[in-house]
Amino acid sequence: MDKLIKILEIENIKLIFLDLPTYLKGIFVSSNKEKFIILSNTLPDNQHLRVTLAHELGHYFTCLGDCVSLSCTTHTCRFFATLNEAKADRWAAKFLIPREELLECMRKEMPFYELVQYFQVTPELLKIRVGMSDVSTY
Ligand SMILES: [Zn+2]
Repeated sequence: MDKLIKILEIENIKLIFLDLPTYLKGIFVSSNKEKFIILSNTLPDNQHLRVTLAHELGHYFTCLGDCVSLSCTTHTCRFFATLNEAKADRWAAKFLIPREELLECMRKEMPFYELVQYFQVTPELLKIRVGMSDVSTY
């Protein structure tokens, strides 16, 4: 968690917890002057908290300009929205699961469930990380 909080401080991003609709775990919002990450009050555990926070930071680092368009429904917009979600997930996966550390664990043949615990992430994020080319082609 410390690493994530450090980044928030360095980048001057405010973290807010709110009651969000159940389909929303977090939102990244930026305006000219201020940047916010809003996280749901109802994230079930520390793993989901870390993964969601890292995902929203991923939006910040992988998206140039305005990347929050929740009400956008045209086909092109949906396509780019999905692309942005994937980019944010990949950023989060790389940040929370460093390559060398993961490869070391894989060499020790640590089972999938233990890896989830070890990196304090969700199984979904670990699956994304394991499927990324810098790890899977090793
Ligand atoms: Zn997202």
